[in-house]
Amino acid sequence: MPFNLKDNIQYVPGVGPKRAKLLHHLGINTIQDILFYFPRDYINKIINKRIVDLKINDIASIKAKIISFGYVTHKYKRPRFQLIISDGWGYLTCIWFKTTPWLEKQFEIGKEIIVLGRLKYYHNRLCIIHPDFEFVGSKAKGSFWAGQNYLPVYPLTEGLTNKIFRKIIFNIFKSEFNILETLPEYILKNQNLLPIKLALKKIHIPDTQDDIASSRKRFIFEELFYLQLMLARRKTHWSKAEGISMQIRKTFTTQLKNKLPFNLTAAQKKVLNEIVKDMKSPYQMNRLLQGDVGSGKTIIVLFVMLLAIENGFQAAIMAPTEILATQHYFAIREFLKGIDVKIGLLLGGNYKGKKRLKNDILEGEIDIVIGTHSLIQKDVIFRKLGIVIIDEQHRFGVIQRLSLSQKGQVPDKIVMSATPIPRSLALTVYGDLDISIIDELPPNRKEIYTSWISREKKPQVYDFIKKEISKGRQVYIVCPLVEESEKSYLRDATNTYEKLKNSVFNNHRLALLHGRMTNQEKDEIMHDFKDGKIDMLISTTVIEVGIDVPNATIMMIEHAERFGLSQLHQLRGRVGRGAIKSYCILVAYEPISEEALLRLNTMKETNDGFKISEIDLEIRGPGEFFGTEQSGIPKFRIANIVRDRQVLETARKIAFDVISEDYDLILGKNILLQEKYKKDYIQKERLFSF
Ligand code: ADP
Ligand code: MG
Repeated sequence: MPFNLKDNIQYVPGVGPKRAKLLHHLGINTIQDILFYFPRDYINKIINKRIVDLKINDIASIKAKIISFGYVTHKYKRPRFQLIISDGWGYLTCIWFKTTPWLEKQFEIGKEIIVLGRLKYYHNRLCIIHPDFEFVGSKAKGSFWAGQNYLPVYPLTEGLTNKIFRKIIFNIFKSEFNILETLPEYILKNQNLLPIKLALKKIHIPDTQDDIASSRKRFIFEELFYLQLMLARRKTHWSKAEGISMQIRKTFTTQLKNKLPFNLTAAQKKVLNEIVKDMKSPYQMNRLLQGDVGSGKTIIVLFVMLLAIENGFQAAIMAPTEILATQHYFAIREFLKGIDVKIGLLLGGNYKGKKRLKNDILEGEIDIVIGTHSLIQKDVIFRKLGIVIIDEQHRFGVIQRLSLSQKGQVPDKIVMSATPIPRSLALTVYGDLDISIIDELPPNRKEIYTSWISREKKPQVYDFIKKEISKGRQVYIVCPLVEESEKSYLRDATNTYEKLKNSVFNNHRLALLHGRMTNQEKDEIMHDFKDGKIDMLISTTVIEVGIDVPNATIMMIEHAERFGLSQLHQLRGRVGRGAIKSYCILVAYEPISEEALLRLNTMKETNDGFKISEIDLEIRGPGEFFGTEQSGIPKFRIANIVRDRQVLETARKIAFDVISEDYDLILGKNILLQEKYKKDYIQKERLFSF
């Protein structure tokens, strides 16, 4: 009797109610679910490794002889059944915590066995726990998998084994079932992709390496393709959404241009043109603005806001932290001196003047409002909001972005990213936006000299710092966030501050900055630092973003081995902001992991933020890169945008072609797309991005 894909998994032979329950924990309820629960790896029985060559986490197949077996009981350890095998090159232990008489009966000293599984450390030695095994030359008893050269390995939960899983899979394929294709014929053909049923069979039961590659490719393509289809629809929708058509009036913008102490770089001009073109058009702008640290994004954003204000609108900037909002506020206020534009800073909590500010925003008395997420609170009402800038720093969720743009009728929107976003990620998370990149730094920027040292070298660094301070320079010392608790990292910065103030730097002006201070305290310190009243600022990572003091030329980062790569680059971006030679000194404490070493060396070797973000993405993977759950990164079943970036580019191109020809997917050839899209994506489309 053929299976129906919607059938409960419980009714597949070999499952039953108990295993069905375990499968539910993996999100598997139906036959369809298990078919789309893909192997995470494969055991290749053709490659027999020597026991001496095995490493931890290898998934291996080992041909060897049985040396001994039996129960091991120990006062403090779980009783276990242990099998020791040898291939003449070494010994390997296999462990079962639960055995059956059936299991024991099969073993015989001297008998040849093939053991399959993942290598683990257990009680200080390499072993395989609950391995699969076969006896050499025993294809008898009709064991299907014994005749297969590749065995699928699934991500499992306690109580389920790969053996059970394979049996279920085998029983499904042994029977008949129907499954609907989800990609149109013309795409399968042009892209050389397997049809769905064949791909499913080959991904679970491959005969060759090529089966594995081609079946995986089909599902990777499909997954990325549908996401891009959604992004293509969003983007097309934006490009037609009615918006504000602004005019060039050359009042405030020209005033700003005339008072700038520098010329815009070619890259800044290019990006400004792209944005202004969008604002003039009668459609809504939805654009991602990115550029390396220090590439001059603020001034661009300011021009853009002034253009909106010239047209009678208000502008808003939403920043992820109060410090950053405050920084934007001061930087912009500085640029606007002598220009008749009013700005306000809106922070969280209750404070004097807040009510009045909100009233002024409502009345349209304030032209530019800068704030944190407090901007999206219900009682903040704009009279006429024309442009919204979201300084993303990868910290806002999609929903928060949405709420701010709803404060205006159809405001133009820019998302600004502090660190460069690798292309593959930008196409995935911001794939529905137009993208502007400032790919050049202002002239005369010196490379920031970066080195990493061990703690013993700190005294020499302190000597160097003293010399630089005597030349009038200023210094940042950043202390890390220690995992255990917020308190302990506070103590870290505080301790460092106390220690330095009372020893090496007792003749200098030191200050401490951390997130637990009140806004007013933080502001005062930042002001004093900016005015040169402080030589050395010791802080937690609160200074990570946006702080701009060109005279600060040394950044020393304690426990640099604990920081992520993009974060190190952000921190380093606080120096090298003027024409004076700047230094970044990373202090690393042992033990330094291999990955940490890669981060430290990358920092030393390059100042290029785009390169750094690519490496960071590769090290951490897309989920971790943004550091937040709700950053809008879709969870992929099989695709990995770093590894599969080539497929991503292709899938995107085809998706955009499809949508530009057939937005509603109503053409006959796209009927399969329409069905799946309606079922799985239309809901998500509504939530995605702005
Ligand atoms: P980021 O892109 O990191 O936000 P900022 O906008 O803070 O960079 O700019 C960094 C510094 O460079 C600021 O002091 C800014 O005034 C200055 N700057 C911006 N554009 C230019 C330019 N074209 N030439 C010289 N300095 C510039
Ligand atoms: Mg417009």
